[in-house]
Amino acid sequence: MSEKNHESYWSRTASRTESRPYSGDSKCDVAIVGGGLTGVTTALLLARRGVNGVLLEANTLGSGTSGYTTAKITLQHGLKYSNLLDSAGLENTLAYVKACTLGLELTESLSREIAPDCGFERVSSHVYTRDPSRLQRFDDEAAALEKLHVPYRFSDSCGLPFPVARDMAIDDQAQFHPLRYLNALADSIPSDRFPIYERSRVIEVTPGSPCILRTERGTLRAKTVVLATNYPLIDMPGLYFVRLHREQSYLMSVPAGDYELDGMYISDEEPPHSARMYHDPEGDRLILGGFGHRSGRGGDTATRYDDIYRWLRLAFHDVTAEPDASWMAQDAMPADHVPCIGPMSEETPHIYVATGYAKWGMTTSAAAALLISSMITGERHPILEARALYRPSRFTPGASAREVVVQGAHVTGSFAEGVLTGTTQKPEDVAPGEGAVLRSDGELMAVSRSPSGTLSICGAHCTHMKCPVAWNPSERTWDCPCHGSRFEPDGTVKEGPAVRPLPGFDEAGEH
Ligand SMILES: Cc1cc2nc3c(=O)[nH]c(=O)nc-3n(C[C@H](O)[C@H](O)[C@H](O)COP(=O)(O)OP(=O)(O)OC[C@H]3O[C@@H](n4cnc5c(N)ncnc54)[C@H](O)[C@@H]3O)c2cc1C
Repeated sequence: MSEKNHESYWSRTASRTESRPYSGDSKCDVAIVGGGLTGVTTALLLARRGVNGVLLEANTLGSGTSGYTTAKITLQHGLKYSNLLDSAGLENTLAYVKACTLGLELTESLSREIAPDCGFERVSSHVYTRDPSRLQRFDDEAAALEKLHVPYRFSDSCGLPFPVARDMAIDDQAQFHPLRYLNALADSIPSDRFPIYERSRVIEVTPGSPCILRTERGTLRAKTVVLATNYPLIDMPGLYFVRLHREQSYLMSVPAGDYELDGMYISDEEPPHSARMYHDPEGDRLILGGFGHRSGRGGDTATRYDDIYRWLRLAFHDVTAEPDASWMAQDAMPADHVPCIGPMSEETPHIYVATGYAKWGMTTSAAAALLISSMITGERHPILEARALYRPSRFTPGASAREVVVQGAHVTGSFAEGVLTGTTQKPEDVAPGEGAVLRSDGELMAVSRSPSGTLSICGAHCTHMKCPVAWNPSERTWDCPCHGSRFEPDGTVKEGPAVRPLPGFDEAGEH
């Protein structure tokens, strides 16, 4: 089964009137770049504290990972804490737990106050394994949770409809509909104090006093900038391009009928499998997914949807309906497994960044909004205890050296592949619905053909750092394996960090 319509269930079942694009030349105190959960929550908290600002979103609010997530709101980030204690120490790990708890509490209070239709509900969170050889990992995690005073339950069974070797549950976590929540937050931000502009991609940020942001149609001067773009659109200073890579994962929603899954689940496997329910008056859904891989390295990505479908049919016999949506998304993965939230670098104290959530951005985006808004306004808040842990300019050689080397090798390898690969096929050989990187006079061309036969040809080097892009067959996009920029067949930017389209092929020779 290979679905081709990859709009998320969340996006199909939430709506909001789009804001107009930004144009002109104006100034504000705080400019937020990016309208996902991080950007919108930060804007709301700042507006409530009396700050004047502007939010600029490249596409539409929630069109990034926040609208394509699984939306489990939990401090149980896989089996995280045993490793984090080893690499970051007790004080920092306690700060991580606290930040997640504060993020969950903020999400609950905003859900109840302004987003009553977002289906927020408290449920237990579970990590399980079917593999008895992984039991030691659960014992190590249990020891860590005891040190952190986080209550958990151990069991050799759980609510899933198949046997497991071990299940670790943390009660009183939560789940919701991320876009109904995000839209309600956005609609409650006073537009005179903190206007939101959509279809307004920031293409340049010049640090200074003020910082200057350029979009295609205008310029904005801001005393402070918050980059809430999932992956920062500027890499320097801070060397983000070697400290963060992207990973893609896949999800599917299925009408659940009378089936009920009690809790939210993720497996301790490579790659993990994930399951939760969404309760909706119009019909409950089972949301299944996982099956992730490094962005741009998924091969025939259509097979990931086939894998989820196979899991659905093999494991969830009581769910007989066909899936009604399937989609993919990606998130930024930090080398030392800790998000980067705070001033981007020591040299740029007025540019804040929030990135590297490693697919655990529901609690973390709310924590980031609390931390950044408190740092900007100078208000005291318990979240500030996590300031040192998340500090983007930290250097943690023990935890990150290996990953930085791997990411560096990956980027270098991608350049080398660009030199070596590219087939000698001709554009006319590319079939409808397909894409291929072709070589012509020593240059690489990204050639694709729409299902109806229209041919598109662009230069094949990503405009972020010039890595050669790869065709993603199920999404019909060009994806960059270095940092996860994604482009439409005609070269238009779909996701950053790139801000400029793939060059037309005539221009490609200039690289
Ligand atoms: C498949 C999947 C499942 C996940 N499931 C969970 C889960 O169950 N629980 C959990 O806690 N986390 C989960 N996550 C992680 C979580 O969804 C993300 O970490 C979180 O949504 C990130 O939010 P964000 O606002 O930082 O980024 P995004 O939601 O990606 O928002 C960034 C926004 O910035 C905009 N933007 C980018 N560049 C520019 C520019 N130059 N100018 C203007 N705007 C720009 C984008 O268009 C986008 O709207 C999952 C991630 C994936 C990939």
